[in-house]
Amino acid sequence: MKKITVYCEVNHLNKKIADVSYELITKAYELTKKAFGLTNEEYIVEAIVLSDEIDDNSIKKTFAAGATNFVFVKNDCLSKFSQTVFAQCFVEYYIQSRPEIIIFPATPIGRIVAPRITTMLNTGLVADCTDLDFVVRENKMYFAPTRPTFGSELMATILSKTLPQCATVREKTFKAEFDKNIEGALCEFYPNSYEENRIKLVRSIFDKESSVNDFLNAKIVFVAGYGLADHRDKKYFLRLEEIAKIIGAKVGSTRKIVDLGIMGHEYQIGQTGSTVEADVYIAFGVSGAIQHVAGMKNCKTIVAINTDENAEIFNYADYKIVADAKMIIDELLEKLR
Ligand SMILES: Cc1cc2nc3c(=O)[nH]c(=O)nc-3n(C[C@H](O)[C@H](O)[C@H](O)COP(=O)(O)OP(=O)(O)OC[C@H]3O[C@@H](n4cnc5c(N)ncnc54)[C@H](O)[C@@H]3O)c2cc1C
Repeated sequence: MKKITVYCEVNHLNKKIADVSYELITKAYELTKKAFGLTNEEYIVEAIVLSDEIDDNSIKKTFAAGATNFVFVKNDCLSKFSQTVFAQCFVEYYIQSRPEIIIFPATPIGRIVAPRITTMLNTGLVADCTDLDFVVRENKMYFAPTRPTFGSELMATILSKTLPQCATVREKTFKAEFDKNIEGALCEFYPNSYEENRIKLVRSIFDKESSVNDFLNAKIVFVAGYGLADHRDKKYFLRLEEIAKIIGAKVGSTRKIVDLGIMGHEYQIGQTGSTVEADVYIAFGVSGAIQHVAGMKNCKTIVAINTDENAEIFNYADYKIVADAKMIIDELLEKLR
């Protein structure tokens, strides 16, 4: 039986599986049906977790989302994330299991570990996919991931010549559905050929993992764009943070702000950052480049503040404010303080 393996991400603070994993499992389950419909080939979905411990309810949810096998790669060395150790342990398991397809979440961790694993397996990786499918070419069925290319101007469907065929997929690309009634198999695998972690954390520049999750699931998101930057001066970013704190919003940014070192990449919204689906999204000095829009276009109400009345962001906005965003921040803060 062929396998689609989903690399499930674990929150190492509470040992729960991250939501994106269920989204990928449900999609993999749909792909098994598609494969059978196209060529009668039978695939199963294997959920794989690398950790020292795992929450029981999370395991149950993988079966409800569509997994047939749950593989717990277990070792104390997996109690917290290390890219080298995790990649080695995964590859050790891969050698036993040899799935045809591996799907990783395009989270900060997935984006680090997936290329390392695919390099070790001497295979390709289609990163940041927006869709996954199977297609038949000359009587042969191929895994067919699609991703944006040429600055998101085109969508490319990329067929791999090597096995395993691998892809990363961003959070919220697919929807998790917990309606399956699969009595799956649960197995444990004990890796033993890994080397000690040779990468040492010198200084942590990331906020706590929970604050990133809060940002991704926030109902109100403020987005700081280059219009707030003034020779790398953080003044307006700090003021925006202050307003956000008062009204219970979270602050994200464009890539330009991340490249300037003003905000961390985990708060970047867009094609090479995260996707947000907030009830309210407010852009402060954001031009609305297509790569940014890719990560915010599904927000329910979009408000944009920009001095340029022709700014692209206005084409996506429900409320358009042609004004100086810094002035609005100052006035808001004055009223709220
Ligand atoms: C392969 C690739 C991937 C990328 N991925 C991403 C991604 O994931 N996320 C992302 O965001 N970008 C991404 N980018 C970069 C993207 O193309 C843009 O460069 C970036 O989004 C622009 O950021 P910005 O809107 O902050 O800055 P700018 O484009 O410089 O826009 C600044 C805006 O602020 C306005 N402004 C200036 N002063 C004020 C003021 N006082 N008040 C109000 N408005 C003001 C200006 O009119 C302008 O519209 C990617 C690019 C590439 C090539």
